[in-house]
Amino acid sequence: MFQPLCSTCRTTTMLARITHGAWDFDIRTFECPVCTGIHQVVADLADPMKSPKANGWLHGQLQAPK
Ligand SMILES: [Zn+2]
Repeated sequence: MFQPLCSTCRTTTMLARITHGAWDFDIRTFECPVCTGIHQVVADLADPMKSPKANGWLHGQLQAPK
């Protein structure tokens, strides 16, 4: 999972919570464990189940084995 570095102390932040902004993206709140700084990142859900490429792959998996 993508975890941004704290802009203050360069420590890897911890994911504190995810807020759903809309159907196709969410807002991830990261908290720095050292200086307790808060960093918010808007992230695409990038749901593989919704991608046309993944759907094709799933359909392929659903075919009866030969
Ligand atoms: Zn920090």
